[in-house]
Amino acid sequence: MILKFIVAVLLVFPQLAHAVTVIEVGEAEDGSQTTGQSEVWHDVKNDHSVAEVDVLYQQGRFAPLNSAGSTGLKPGAFWSHFVLHNITNQPLTVDLEYVDHQLIALDAFSRSDVGSGQYQSIASMSLSDPFGQRPVSHNRFVVPTTIPPHESVEFLVKFSSHQAGFVFPSMRIWSPDLLRETHTAETSIIMFLFGGIFLMSIISLVGAIATRDKTFLIYSIYAFTKIISWCTILGYTHQFVLKNHFHWNYLSISGALGVFFGIVFARSFLHTRKHTPKIDYILLFMLCNSVFLLVCAVFSLTGLAVLSITVALFLYPMMSIAGIVRWRQGSTDAGVFALAWSLLVFGLVVQALRDLGVVPHNTINYYWPAFASFVEMLGIMAAMGIKVRRLRLQKEDAEKRYRQHLEESKAELEDQVRARTKELEKAKLEAEHEARTDPLTGVYNRRSFFIEADKRLNFALRKQQPMSLLMFDIDLFKSINDTFGHSMGDEALRLFSDTVMANLRGSDVWGRLGGEEFALVLSEDKEGTLRTAQRLREEIAKIAINTTVGELCMTASIGVAYLGEEQDIEVLLNKADDALYRAKNQGRDQIIEYEDSV
Ligand code: GH3
Ligand code: MG
Ligand code: MG
Repeated sequence: MILKFIVAVLLVFPQLAHAVTVIEVGEAEDGSQTTGQSEVWHDVKNDHSVAEVDVLYQQGRFAPLNSAGSTGLKPGAFWSHFVLHNITNQPLTVDLEYVDHQLIALDAFSRSDVGSGQYQSIASMSLSDPFGQRPVSHNRFVVPTTIPPHESVEFLVKFSSHQAGFVFPSMRIWSPDLLRETHTAETSIIMFLFGGIFLMSIISLVGAIATRDKTFLIYSIYAFTKIISWCTILGYTHQFVLKNHFHWNYLSISGALGVFFGIVFARSFLHTRKHTPKIDYILLFMLCNSVFLLVCAVFSLTGLAVLSITVALFLYPMMSIAGIVRWRQGSTDAGVFALAWSLLVFGLVVQALRDLGVVPHNTINYYWPAFASFVEMLGIMAAMGIKVRRLRLQKEDAEKRYRQHLEESKAELEDQVRARTKELEKAKLEAEHEARTDPLTGVYNRRSFFIEADKRLNFALRKQQPMSLLMFDIDLFKSINDTFGHSMGDEALRLFSDTVMANLRGSDVWGRLGGEEFALVLSEDKEGTLRTAQRLREEIAKIAINTTVGELCMTASIGVAYLGEEQDIEVLLNKADDALYRAKNQGRDQIIEYEDSV
């Protein structure tokens, strides 16, 4: 019953439904005081005049906005009512600053007689108006107003958000000087950050030219579109570049461009098409969505654009996931990329919470996305650095392995060459040995016997030492062949040579001159020579080979010549041959010395 009464009273006296907000303002307003949101009305179609809205206000249609600051995504316009009271005894000028940049238009009205009289327009601003028309040069809408000393002024402010948008129907109250100072400081910091991104863009471009890596080029473009989109979104493009020809849909266009190049860059940097094809399909879808957003922005299709932005925002964490997956696959730079991108996503989430009115607007969550973008760019730059380093290490490793392989091949080749050389040397030695030796008996052949005998002769002449030359011829060897066969004859020849060899000294020269004829050089005098010859003859006579056709025995005839003066080996050999001839004639199996007289 009582409740019903109260409701009835409130309906009859709607102005009692809420206390009129009176805000006391002084000389040093630093933006911490706001016009508040306790009296707000939603003009859904944005088709009411200030007089109509005043009537609605009088009827108590204004109500507190039950959110942390934002109206959430709503069409049309929002009206805010408040009263400012000058507590000073001077006329006081204050600047009322709208806290966000994404507002299409702002209209402010005031009247000095609170509760009666006509509202006068004190400011009418739109994103599409030339920037020069703004009463205060600021990237956000600022309404200056002057309040007489100790008086109150009543305000109605309309915030228009076109078809749909977020409105923060409360404004910060500033003393003009303090606002200017803060604005300059804020702009400086933002420009410093953009300068950083610009530098990264340039460095990356240089990197692209130097390395011919297209990822650097895409990053450079991405960084550049970041500057364009943030400058546009935060209002600097309108303030400093397109002063007279700005349109509110440039915000969406530049935003879409940033999203587009962000995805293009991520795909290129992470090589998602190759390494994570499934995630790459999602990134491709995001790419198409950003193109769709661009088209919506160009044609001012706000509803579809909002839908597209929402999809884009929901899918943004996909980039972090792609980075994490690639990181798990072993790419450190992808890990850094994921971290940087997550920071941006977190910044966008914070902004979304603010835009939806879940958390109050403040400088930190207002600038967080822009700052996160800067850190993201820095992070990605670091990731690219890591990537370049990794590629360089890979290259160095490959070079090292190549060098190692080369060295191994070289060593292998050297081993082969060494082995081959050894073989060749051995073959050469063998060939030389073969050239020098008689293949049947293994002793000097005729040619090398002559060479060795000649050396011995020269030595003997030089040293005036004695030397003798003996010629051996196996007796009746033909009949040995005939009786025992040719191969047994060979065997007999070998045994004959071995028997003589076994009874010689190292300095003696023994060789086969041909057939069953052999020769021997001894460094002995006549006596020693004859003794040796005798012993050899006897040893030869002892040779006996058991064969199937009986025992093979042999004897040899020996012709001896001694070294005299002015002799050479041919002469000596002829003399020995001569003596041998005589030994044959005198009955074989005997030793005959050469005699000059004969
Ligand atoms: P003489 O006592 O007069 O020297 O009689 P001989 O039969 O030994 O004399 P001759 O010079 O007429 O014969 C040498 C024989 O030696 C002829 C040849 O068939 C044989 N002969 C030569 N070289 C070889 C060989 O390498 N192997 C064998 N099995 N026989 C050889
Ligand atoms: Mg003979
Ligand atoms: Mg003979």
